[in-house]
Amino acid sequence: MTIATVDPTTGETLEEFTPHTAAEVEDRIAAAHAAYLELASTTIAQRAEWMRAAAGILESEVDQVSELITTEMGKTLGQARYETLKSATGMRFFADNAERYLAPEHPVEAGAVNASALSVRFDPIGVVLAVMPWNYPLWQCIRFAAPALMAGNTGLLKHASNVPQSALYLGELFARGGFPKGAFQTLLIEGGAVAPLLDDRRIRAATLTGSVAAGASVAEAAGRNVKKTVLELGGTDVFIVLPSADVPRAATFGVNARVQNSGQSCIAAKRYYVHTDVYDEFADAFVAGMAATVAGDPRDEATTFGPLATSRGRDDVQELVDDAVAKGATVLTGGSVPDGPGWFYPATVLTDVTPSMRIFREECFGPVACLYRVDSLDEAISRSNDSDFGLSSSVWTTDTAEIDRLTRSLDFGGVFVNGLTASFPGVPFGGVKDSGYGRELSAFGIREFTNAKTVWQA
Ligand code: NDP
Repeated sequence: MTIATVDPTTGETLEEFTPHTAAEVEDRIAAAHAAYLELASTTIAQRAEWMRAAAGILESEVDQVSELITTEMGKTLGQARYETLKSATGMRFFADNAERYLAPEHPVEAGAVNASALSVRFDPIGVVLAVMPWNYPLWQCIRFAAPALMAGNTGLLKHASNVPQSALYLGELFARGGFPKGAFQTLLIEGGAVAPLLDDRRIRAATLTGSVAAGASVAEAAGRNVKKTVLELGGTDVFIVLPSADVPRAATFGVNARVQNSGQSCIAAKRYYVHTDVYDEFADAFVAGMAATVAGDPRDEATTFGPLATSRGRDDVQELVDDAVAKGATVLTGGSVPDGPGWFYPATVLTDVTPSMRIFREECFGPVACLYRVDSLDEAISRSNDSDFGLSSSVWTTDTAEIDRLTRSLDFGGVFVNGLTASFPGVPFGGVKDSGYGRELSAFGIREFTNAKTVWQA
């Protein structure tokens, strides 16, 4: 994939970038390793000061950064602004909480293991390679970078090829805040150039957010080298509506759950399982809500969501819809590419989706919802779990017994009750099955790339 900024609103190529040469990549790995050794002699308090300074810079540049995000991947300016400020908040959160999350633990009384003192420290492990996607060009990176740097690791960012300017901005941000120059840098390289980097002894681990294929490729190379990975690989999240739910509210949130970020979100709801008792009421409100959204100019405040980020991404969405329609699915709204420039795609609702259709199992990375009628709670649960993915779920019911069943039985990394799945700096985020493994954010996230070092003293 060419490394370039191509405006999804117009399809115009604005700037192309030459990939880093092998020598330039080597310089950056060496700098990242040197910065790691330098960070080892700093305190968490010092790193927190730099992190807060970097967050302050990001906040002061919110207008410029939001414009850049919108230009590179097409989300609305409002959403880009929200993402930028959320990223700064996340940075401050880890500045404030790293000390607590990384405080040594005392798993048992020292005397129980014949020691005078016993503790577990959470020490950094070194340079971590981060392979990141374009859908949240800032936040996806920050949620790795902030905890990793606070733990004393350094980062090399291989960002998606369609957001190079966002990548270069991030590659400077932490040094501008005060971190050693090599602590967080961008590698301008293509996806195929990533796996060989795992052979380098100075790179100790990798994290990847993106497709299953990309994740498997990085995990394979890391596995060969006995290096840890954290993978966040998308999903086909469910949205379950049961009879006791506030149905109009569920329908309103259901629309947002599917069209957020033009549907290009791993945690966007994709499969809607609605109990037959409230199916018609929900379907009418949901389809009307989807039809009322405006897919348009991301700089216009009247727009609900902007274009899809890439031409290929839109082709993928249309192929999934065409395949479903050819095999008998019914389109309740949307379903076809509009005329005109830019990679726009309308909010779309399909019913009569069957297992023979690709969209029944595959992740659709665009604003296309599949609506299913279910007869019982058991059916909602079993059909939800009948998926290769298991990232998150949103369930709508006020019945406490149902909530208990759902939270225990749904095979996902998260269950959000009467609300949308979302990421918060202090809450673990991640999935099961093909959605990946490991957790980002919270104490779980910051500890993923640490050495839980046992210190036993006679
Ligand atoms: P990719 O998985 O291809 O891209 C994500 C990141 O991985 C990019 O930085 C990409 O670099 C890199 N990459 C791609 N192939 C490899 C590889 N073999 N080894 C190492 N790194 C690699 O996602 P796409 O953008 O192509 O989207 C395809 C699908 O992936 C989507 O339709 C969606 O289903 C899923 N996806 C999920 C995301 C999530 O949030 N979980 C985010 C993005 C995509 P480069 O850009 O240079 O190819």
